[in-house]
Amino acid sequence: MTSCIFCKIAAGEIPSDQVYADQDFVAFRDLQPQAPVHVLVIPRRHVDALTEVTPGDADLLGRLQVTAAAVAAQLGLAATGYRFVVNCGRDGCQTVPHLHLHLLGGRPLGWPPG
Ligand code: 5GP
Ligand code: ZN
Repeated sequence: MTSCIFCKIAAGEIPSDQVYADQDFVAFRDLQPQAPVHVLVIPRRHVDALTEVTPGDADLLGRLQVTAAAVAAQLGLAATGYRFVVNCGRDGCQTVPHLHLHLLGGRPLGWPPG
């Protein structure tokens, strides 16, 4: 998707503080971090949001989480723990319409969320 900011980040057309990349996924630090570690993990393939996924995306979604867990371990969060967040749509406060997983850690995180 040519107008999508995360597609551009995945393609290297917009710079990012990248922490991991492979054939299918890219992970980079959030521009406005909400925790000492705040990384966004995205599929290179453009998917708008969780509302758009189909059973055919099950492998992608599973590997997205496996990849994010590996990134969490790479960043030293495995011992202390962390949180995955996927915002979806208006009520979920999604602002960038390219599916992304927030990896948050490095401090105790509040619960329940706002
Ligand atoms: P959402 O609100 O859609 O769940 O999350 C979008 C996230 O993307 C926000 O946390 C925001 O700070 C981050 N973000 C938006 N634009 C950019 C950008 O150009 N670069 C990076 N690294 N993060 C971005
Ligand atoms: Zn995109």
